[in-house]
Amino acid sequence: MPLTAEDLHTDMFRMVLESTADQVFAADMSGKYLLFNEAHRRMMLECYGQEIHADMAPETMACHRYDNGQFRDACMKACIGQPNQLFFEFGSPDFRKIWAQANFNPLFDGSGQVCGLSVFISDASESKATEKELLAEKDAAQADAKAKSAFLSSMSHEIRTPMNAILGLTDILLQQNLEETSLENLRAIRFSANNLLAIINDILDFSKIEAGKFSFENHPFDLFQVLDEINRGIRISAQNKNLLYEFRLAPEIPRYLRGDAVRLSQILLNLLGNSVKFTKTGKVQLSADVFSESDTQVELEFRVADTGIGIPKSQLSNIFNSFTQVHRGNRFLSQGTGLGLSITRRLVELQEGEIRVESEVGKGSEFSFRLRYLKAMPQELLPEADDEELHHNQFRDLKVLVVEDNKINQLLARQLLSGWGVHVEVANDGFEAIAMLQRRVFDLILLDLQMPEIDGFEVARFVRKTIKAPMNQIPIVALTADAFTETRQLTQAAGMNDFITKPFQQKDLLRVLRRFSAQEQESNQQNEISQIETGILQAIDFEFIREKFGKDPETFRYILGVFIHDIAGELISVQSLLQENNNAGAVRLVHKLVSTFSAMGMPETAFTVSLVERLLKNNDDMVMIREKWTQVDQEYQKARIQAEMVLDSLNN
Ligand code: ADP
Repeated sequence: MPLTAEDLHTDMFRMVLESTADQVFAADMSGKYLLFNEAHRRMMLECYGQEIHADMAPETMACHRYDNGQFRDACMKACIGQPNQLFFEFGSPDFRKIWAQANFNPLFDGSGQVCGLSVFISDASESKATEKELLAEKDAAQADAKAKSAFLSSMSHEIRTPMNAILGLTDILLQQNLEETSLENLRAIRFSANNLLAIINDILDFSKIEAGKFSFENHPFDLFQVLDEINRGIRISAQNKNLLYEFRLAPEIPRYLRGDAVRLSQILLNLLGNSVKFTKTGKVQLSADVFSESDTQVELEFRVADTGIGIPKSQLSNIFNSFTQVHRGNRFLSQGTGLGLSITRRLVELQEGEIRVESEVGKGSEFSFRLRYLKAMPQELLPEADDEELHHNQFRDLKVLVVEDNKINQLLARQLLSGWGVHVEVANDGFEAIAMLQRRVFDLILLDLQMPEIDGFEVARFVRKTIKAPMNQIPIVALTADAFTETRQLTQAAGMNDFITKPFQQKDLLRVLRRFSAQEQESNQQNEISQIETGILQAIDFEFIREKFGKDPETFRYILGVFIHDIAGELISVQSLLQENNNAGAVRLVHKLVSTFSAMGMPETAFTVSLVERLLKNNDDMVMIREKWTQVDQEYQKARIQAEMVLDSLNN
């Protein structure tokens, strides 16, 4: 008899079923076998001692035998028409665990109703082993990353500690009356040390970002002050290359923000530094605008533009990648690590901002980025120490215990602190510190974290838990070369109040001294505020304004608003015009400002402004004109803070 197509189909199906190593079976809705292959029969016999056959009772079927409830659930799912997959483990006769992958599919009768299920089970031990290997590799990679991070942390400590000494002692020497050649050499040392530190910081930042260990501060800050410091530095480096530096700040930009000011400076300095570096003639510009704003937040857009050598279009997409240097052939231009822009981009993106670049070879480049900040109140800011205060004995009654094992750092801390009139005692290690704290009273502890035997964390815990009140409440400031964020968190957990990273600058130390010379400080601040309220120290005469413009609160508010926002922009415009030596342009603006300051009850400032106007008209010495303008600016900033405070109190 000739073979029918149907017979052939059945035979072939049988052959395939029996030749595969995978187990295949089908069952009806009650779980009774409809079909199974040899592989499945063997497995049931060898693993479960069960010889299977088509008429078996449902409860002895495979789905009841696999010692895993999930298997039965998967069968049930297929029986309600839902194909599914399961990865499971079962014991083999030689007590090996076998990993299997099973596919469960519903079977349908002629009317489309589910009438059973088919199950295909394949050995997945191999892919499981690969997965296990991958997991092991991942664990190893994570351990590696951890080791790398620990290495970097200790390396950062090892490098930063001597850097602290080099920079700190150089600063101290620079303040002494040395002869000019020694001063020049010292400035050169400071310049190189700062460069070295910048490179170390780049490498550390990069590693921290790579290890996912980067976090951002969220503190109130004065944006104008941040920009002012940046301008001062960049203006000098631009002048050294005979480049013009222009700065424009949109008048509506709020001055007090909350966020990470240090990282904002880092981003701007990176971009501006590159612009100066890659521009031979022409100018470098920084501008800041408000991109969007709500009651509580503002999105700022910064632009850094230059008329430099530009970047080829083909390179623009790589420019933010690590170690990319477009102008590598040129020894002078390729100075740097090639990490700056990569870090910059990550710093922007990690703060949920975006950065772009446009450039044309020979014409110049423009980098722009947007970042969102919360708005802050001026009162939230701690007053910053100014240079003048650095030399005054303003902390005369303060007793500070410095706990530090490194002799050079001891010397540095002692010199800086006693220079400000602080009474300093030094403990060489944790034991000595604890002994001293039990006997004597201090106002503040500066505590090195990494010391042999008892480290800073233990000293802090001891102070908080064991020492008697009120000394257990003493403010403790961690002093460490380790810049990692988790260290900061650990210091908080150990009860420390603040944190200074080495190499610390004078202003870091001043900040903590000011913060923790508490009572004195608080009462000073209180006085300042009440003086503003009672009008004793007012830079701006609010009564005069009220008299002049009538007593309507809305008008008063409006006038203050104009003074705070519009005048700031005009002052900056004058500054740019002076920078460009555009006297005619400056005169026009300056003239307007004379009457503004008179109207605001600031006669002295109005007088200085009219003096500038006269000097400009006479084309007098620009240095003197700029100096006078700086004085106007300072007086305005003081008045502006007061106006903001009054406006705030009216609005609340
Ligand atoms: P580097 O430390 O080399 O400056 P960056 O990551 O900051 O590293 O910059 C990468 C490269 O991008 C630079 O080497 C330079 O080739 C190019 N580049 C960056 N900024 C500018 C710019 N303003 N003008 C021209 N080229 C630039």
